[in-house]
Amino acid sequence: MKTIYNVLNAEDIQLNDEPFNTEEEAIKFKEEQEFVLFPPEGLQIVSEEVKTWEDFMPTYVSLYYVDYNSDLDHETKTLQECLSQNSMCPLDEKIWDWWDFPEEYYLKDILEAMRQEGLECEYDEHLDEIRDYLYEHDTSDPIHDLLRNTTSLAIYYDLGYQVDGWHEAFLCEPWRNTSEEDEVSNVAKILGISRDSKQWKDLETMVCQADSGELRIYFPMDDLEALINNDVNDFKSIRFKGRFAVGVIDVVRGGGDVCELDLDVEFPFVRANLIFSDCDHYSWEDIAGTYTDWCKNYHMPVLSMDEPKSDIEIAESSSSAEIKRQAQYEATYRAGGCTLGDTDIRRHRGVYYRNDFPCGSVCPHCGQFWID
Ligand SMILES: [Zn+2]
Repeated sequence: MKTIYNVLNAEDIQLNDEPFNTEEEAIKFKEEQEFVLFPPEGLQIVSEEVKTWEDFMPTYVSLYYVDYNSDLDHETKTLQECLSQNSMCPLDEKIWDWWDFPEEYYLKDILEAMRQEGLECEYDEHLDEIRDYLYEHDTSDPIHDLLRNTTSLAIYYDLGYQVDGWHEAFLCEPWRNTSEEDEVSNVAKILGISRDSKQWKDLETMVCQADSGELRIYFPMDDLEALINNDVNDFKSIRFKGRFAVGVIDVVRGGGDVCELDLDVEFPFVRANLIFSDCDHYSWEDIAGTYTDWCKNYHMPVLSMDEPKSDIEIAESSSSAEIKRQAQYEATYRAGGCTLGDTDIRRHRGVYYRNDFPCGSVCPHCGQFWID
């Protein structure tokens, strides 16, 4: 709000028909005109009602509106980036992409209201400040709203243990390097399940059924923000207490099995081993043909800054290396190329069928071959 002063004396008004903005301005004018200096009381406030841009600012601002239909169910890659980077920035960047001009409607209303008071110039002059005001006062939280609408997607913690199953080779009897019994014992030991526990049988069935693959514990994404502390000092331990799905999954061949277990076990925390199931090239959802929320009734682990009490060590997940490799194949494909070694036929162009022996499909660009 600007205050306008005018000078009481009629002669003064004749000399200056523009009103003064400040007392100082009026006094300065009078001095310049070599009039006797009036005391400040000699100046009369003639108007207080000249509005500024600040008078048109809304008290409540909500820039991002999230429809109940909007969710992150198909954004597992971005969600995985948040998990891997221990930061919500990848989602923030998506929000910037999805809503490129969220202040549009507020600006329209403000401009209209200011125009009615003849303050269009004031609007143009202060547009940057108006924008800053809107962003500073925004109370909406689109990431939170989108996460709330999102399905309880499955996340797993890879325990860095590879279950070794049966091997086959041409003209050889199938063989294994570790007996099934030893594999079951190894897995039970990692999970803290004793031989006399009722759960032993379930675990044994699952390990034998799966044959080979990586040992993981699955849980639902009920609270993504509990897994991300946005800090260079990451969590030190992860504790699974409650009911979880435990699986042995072969992500390369696309096989495995899962069972339900009651656990109370703590591990050192290795961020690279925390992975959205959907990011696997052959995920448990693909293998079993289940819904993406199949984990929704299980518990979530608790992450802590305290060092784990046990001295178990966790090797880095081989799935995380596989996910990186797949991302590289994907990027090459999107850039117009393809990679020899990428067995996903959808990431090659112009693939044709070759009838000569050995028959199969060939990519004319990189030479990748899929035998029949
Ligand atoms: Zn190719």
